[in-house]
Amino acid sequence: MSSAEWEDDDPFEEQRDKIENPMKRLFLAYGRDYLPQVSVGIFASVFARLLDLLPPLMLGIAIDAVFYEDALFSEQIPLVILPDAWLPTGQTEQFWFTIAVIGAAFGIGAGFHWIRNWGFNAFAQNIQHDVRTDTYDKMQRLNMEFFSDKQTGEMMSILSNDVNRLERFLNDGMNSLFRLSVMVVGIGVLLFWINWQLALVALLPVPIIGGFTYLFIKIIQPKYAEVRSSVGKMNSRLENNLGGIQVIKSSNTEPYESDRVDDVSMDYFDANWDAITTRIKFFPALRVLAGIGFVLTFVIGGLWVFQDTPPGPFTGDLSVGMFVVFILYTQRFIWPMAQFGQIINMYQRARASSARIFGLMDEPSRLAEDPDAEDLTVGDGDVVYDDVSFGYDEETIVSDIDFAVEGGETLALVGPTGAGKSTVLKLLLRMYDVDEGSIRIDGQDVRDVTLKSLRRSIGYVGQSSYLFYGTIRENITYGTFEATDEEVREAAEAAEAHEFIKNLPEGYDTMVGERGVKLSGGQRQRVTIARAVLKDPDLLILDEATSDVDTETEMLIQRSLDRLTADRTTFAIAHRLSTIKDADTILVLEGGEIAERGTHDELLDNSGLYAHLWGVQAGEIDELPQEFIDRAQERTARLVEDAESDDD
Ligand code: ADP
Repeated sequence: MSSAEWEDDDPFEEQRDKIENPMKRLFLAYGRDYLPQVSVGIFASVFARLLDLLPPLMLGIAIDAVFYEDALFSEQIPLVILPDAWLPTGQTEQFWFTIAVIGAAFGIGAGFHWIRNWGFNAFAQNIQHDVRTDTYDKMQRLNMEFFSDKQTGEMMSILSNDVNRLERFLNDGMNSLFRLSVMVVGIGVLLFWINWQLALVALLPVPIIGGFTYLFIKIIQPKYAEVRSSVGKMNSRLENNLGGIQVIKSSNTEPYESDRVDDVSMDYFDANWDAITTRIKFFPALRVLAGIGFVLTFVIGGLWVFQDTPPGPFTGDLSVGMFVVFILYTQRFIWPMAQFGQIINMYQRARASSARIFGLMDEPSRLAEDPDAEDLTVGDGDVVYDDVSFGYDEETIVSDIDFAVEGGETLALVGPTGAGKSTVLKLLLRMYDVDEGSIRIDGQDVRDVTLKSLRRSIGYVGQSSYLFYGTIRENITYGTFEATDEEVREAAEAAEAHEFIKNLPEGYDTMVGERGVKLSGGQRQRVTIARAVLKDPDLLILDEATSDVDTETEMLIQRSLDRLTADRTTFAIAHRLSTIKDADTILVLEGGEIAERGTHDELLDNSGLYAHLWGVQAGEIDELPQEFIDRAQERTARLVEDAESDDD
């Protein structure tokens, strides 16, 4: 897939590229709150690892002192830090002393391991929770254009995959980082202390391993970025298709969609495979380097002990016990070095995820709220659109929209699909800001009031009445959470919904929505209307509220709507003109502009677009003038073009 196509799918790229150091930001923004947890984790981790180093060392000492009787405890280099008085002298005592130290190291070590795991897990889980909830909060405040189908997959991927990846690094990655650091530093110091010459041999491969790891990171970094991108794309495609499964089935495009999923999955496969092939070469190569160090140490140390004289340029003594310590430590030292690569790997992934998360968080909201914004106060509910123009992108979608609605009146918007009716009303809800002109409610510009108060004052009944998974009661009280049962019932009665709800298996407590009892379109619609009745807003928007129901249900809904709209400023969009013919004013939109305005009777007398649309709905198709049919054909052709270009 081309990069241009990806840019389309990746809404946060611009912000993400501006983020310089996402991990530093993560620690500063979120890590600080959990400093105690992570400090406890680090402290315990250091002690646990130091205790882990004790058994091999004690074993070496015991070999020399107890089994070979070469040296007393008090003469052993690693023990000289302890006062002589503490050290046993007899062979049996030394034997039991060794066992006691090793046993204590394991026992106390286990306690530290537990504390360490607690600390790092608490740190990681808390940050994960905070980052996820903050990201979600931010997501809810993004402009509506982010919620097109293509981008919800991307957001899901950030909220789940990326946040999880962070958690993995903060827990496992950091845990390993401290473990390995202590091992490497601790063992390094001990080896040099015991025999600096052999230590040099054992550590010979370290700089090579360092350089090699650096090279690996340089190569793998862009590959991981590619993997993350392709996952996002794949999720978007899958989500899009699941959402549109009905369309896919009904248009028989299963093979076509299977191919498209195959394509994105293949892109993911390729990106992943590319990263995998690099990674699986890296680790065996590291093992070889580590193995060389081990063999060298064994050869030189072995000869040293075995011939009882230092080989080649080496000088001094090496006892059997200390040789064993070297062998045990070298092995423990080299592998952690190799594992640094894995940690850096994890860090790189976490860094990419963190950049994606902050990319989303930094996305500016075009609808910035004025810091001095005051709450909207609605009196009569007069609404004025003053020469409003607006476009989602560069292209202007609605222009010169100019009208006034008096409090309590109903204004209907009619016109062909794509004329801009919904857009005009989204501007009232301030889903988007106008490009030119202004919208005022009782004299207050919608941009000057708080979004919360604005949306509280406006009720919205849309064409797709979405119900959340929950009980009917919860769906009705959604947004008016404190309503009493009595109020809920009254609202349902006003919405003509009480009768059918009463007959459901568990009445108001019946679970509905996804995974719940399936309600018909008309029933869902009435639940939504009940929600609006309960909210009792000052203004009401009905966006094709009766579009997909049968005539009988429409009559029921219409009755409930009449009650809801009485004495309330109402905006209604309707295809079925019969539902709005009593509106105080009807605006006919065409191509984003007001083509006609007036009452039903005035518009019929006008013989314009409205009169023709009315004619069509009354079944007078034969009497339509040719000019009207031509225009309709032109419009639908345009819509098809739009749809095709959207699809690309
Ligand atoms: P109507 O409600 O009259 O059917 P709309 O207001 O929904 O018309 O759409 C008007 C025009 O704006 C259409 O051409 C549509 O494709 C476009 N449009 C609607 N929503 C968006 C959006 N979120 N981003 C870009 N264009 C949009």
